[in-house]
Amino acid sequence: MKPLLQSHGFHFSKAKGQNFLIADWVPRQIAEEAGVDETAGVLEIGPGIGPLTQQLALRAGKVCAVELDERLKPILAATVGEFSNLEILWSDVLKQDVPALVREKFAGLRPMACANLPYYITSPILTALLEAECFESVTVMVQKEVAQRIAARPGTADYSAFTIFCQYYSEPEILFDVPADCFMPQPKVTSAVITLKTRKQRPWQIDDPEVFFRCVRASFAMRRKTLQNGLAAGFPELGKTGAGEVIAACGFAPGVRGETLDIEGFAAIANEIVRRKRHV
Ligand code: SAM
Repeated sequence: MKPLLQSHGFHFSKAKGQNFLIADWVPRQIAEEAGVDETAGVLEIGPGIGPLTQQLALRAGKVCAVELDERLKPILAATVGEFSNLEILWSDVLKQDVPALVREKFAGLRPMACANLPYYITSPILTALLEAECFESVTVMVQKEVAQRIAARPGTADYSAFTIFCQYYSEPEILFDVPADCFMPQPKVTSAVITLKTRKQRPWQIDDPEVFFRCVRASFAMRRKTLQNGLAAGFPELGKTGAGEVIAACGFAPGVRGETLDIEGFAAIANEIVRRKRHV
């Protein structure tokens, strides 16, 4: 890789999260475990110099790769320029209308997202991909600790509002770890590949998603405090007494902590708040 980058006078940009894969097995395994085949339309974020792009284009019906750094144009032309099923968009992925892009580029194909993400914007990218609600799966490399947070179970230290956000939209599964020496330059952290299979149907009844996510945020904003205090702060209209009544109506102990509730538990709390609002 070094001679290729040197011949184009390319220097890595830390600000753009450029840690490029140099171990051949990693992009191959990502493409394979993501289940990419000729029926798939794959959105790749940040192709870099193209190691994952190449593995995706070898398997997929179509690949659309969005890259911010136009200095990579001549390098990608050299590494993946021969693929007729590949289109590169030179743009900031966060400025894209993802559902419109998927409709336009992947008609008749199974839409998937696949990427070695720029770590400085992992959360906003995952948020955009999941909220788009148009992918069958999202398979990404992230920092290992982020993967553990996404896949965490209730009551564990990794369980967070972001866990619930991701698991509301998908069923995450950590696929494999990737050591730092698989990248150039090497990141300071271990990475992991995680796949998020998006839910076709949600197994919970959630009457108002906005109230549900407000409950989750209120609860985790006051981590290690009781759910009652969290809800009272996040829903001033309830007050501490009202929050206590909501918790009791759902059958939870008065001192329950929010971080022990699963999605079904938060759904019950949120639905009870909605019910009380309707009866005011
Ligand atoms: N896929 C390549 C690989 O595995 O070697 C590169 C991965 S590197 C971690 C992240 C890539 O995302 C870089 O090429 C970077 O320029 C690109 N990138 C950073 N921010 C971006 C953004 N907002 N939109 C699109 N691409 C971005």
